Amino acid sequence: MKKIKVGVLGATGMVGQRFIELLHNHPWFEISEVGASERSAGKRYDEAVEGRWKADTPIPEGIADLELKLCKPDLDCKLVFGAMDRSIAGPIEEEFASSGYAVVTNSKNHRMVDDVPLLIPEVNSEHLEILKKQKERFGDGLIVTNPNCSTIGMVLALAPLHEQFGLSKIMVTTMQAVSGAGYPGVPSLDVLDNVLPNIGGEEEKMETESLKILGNLENNQFSNAKIKISADCNRVAVKDGHLESISIELNEKATREQLVESFRNFNPLKELNLPTAPNPPIVLRDEEDRPQPRQDRNEGNGMAAVIGRVRECNVLDWKLNALSHNTIRGAAGASILNAELLKAKGYLK
Ligand code: NAP
Repeated sequence: MKKIKVGVLGATGMVGQRFIELLHNHPWFEISEVGASERSAGKRYDEAVEGRWKADTPIPEGIADLELKLCKPDLDCKLVFGAMDRSIAGPIEEEFASSGYAVVTNSKNHRMVDDVPLLIPEVNSEHLEILKKQKERFGDGLIVTNPNCSTIGMVLALAPLHEQFGLSKIMVTTMQAVSGAGYPGVPSLDVLDNVLPNIGGEEEKMETESLKILGNLENNQFSNAKIKISADCNRVAVKDGHLESISIELNEKATREQLVESFRNFNPLKELNLPTAPNPPIVLRDEEDRPQPRQDRNEGNGMAAVIGRVRECNVLDWKLNALSHNTIRGAAGASILNAELLKAKGYLK
């Protein structure tokens, strides 16, 4: 099969580097273009990321000597992955979509726009229907977004319960990795030996994005899920992997066995055989001391939500812990899976 040429916008950042790592040797996609700011444009990729390449593997051959371009819609590809700084991503992504590119992005700018899918393929693939409406704005181009890194782990973990029993309340406390703040991100003197009890805008993102994802799409309009969510977000001195303590109330009462069965039966993408889809998407650990970031973040190649400690809650119904890799499942891997779903459903021309 001839591979689809793709570009990575913001290719030099934390998420951009993950895209490079995950797209290298991808069976369907091949990186033909890398873009970044005018600080990097014109440089070789390895020169631009010298001293700040933070991925776990060396810069792949064939990427190191690519010339970085400006993020302008004259790139030799039809699909671009978005990892640009949120302060500038919005209009640039729209320019690409208006020029006929498929834009599959991590940035928050278009997540809550009413003709843009906020997609987790295992959870709300039917929301892709809204792309018919988006055509009025972008013609052959499109924009698809993935949720914020802390939202995605929680929503993926809870989706089977919402589908089967209905969620009415969620209380969540996050312990989020430093890579979630980009590079250089949080100063080491602020975070080492410490926990930072605020991540600007993160709690609002968890409380709003989750409702769109778990809500319905009817007659080209999204309606929010009717769930009360309270999020409390903290930065901890972990490199990768967001751990979350979650308490939930359900509309329909369930036993622990029913919850466990619901998690274990959840695998809605299985038949599609998407290369990046974790199989299964939710891994349930039985040990009392799991999940842990260092031990569990690479489960399903960093794409699975790992949950554990499913137990009764004295205030709501149930509580559990959930872990997901923030720059893979929460960012680059999420976008790549979104693009794979777009291809499988015939949206990539
Ligand atoms: P980062 O490490 O700060 O990287 C930012 C990237 O944006 C760099 O490639 C930078 O290029 C590029 N950029 C900056 N100004 C630009 C401009 N004017 N034109 C084109 N490119 C420009 O940030 P990050 O953590 O990778 O995050 C990237 C995006 O993903 C953000 O929108 C963030 O909110 C979102 N996100 C991040 C995570 C995470 O876990 N880190 C998770 C979910 C979503 P230069 O190197 O040339 O400056």
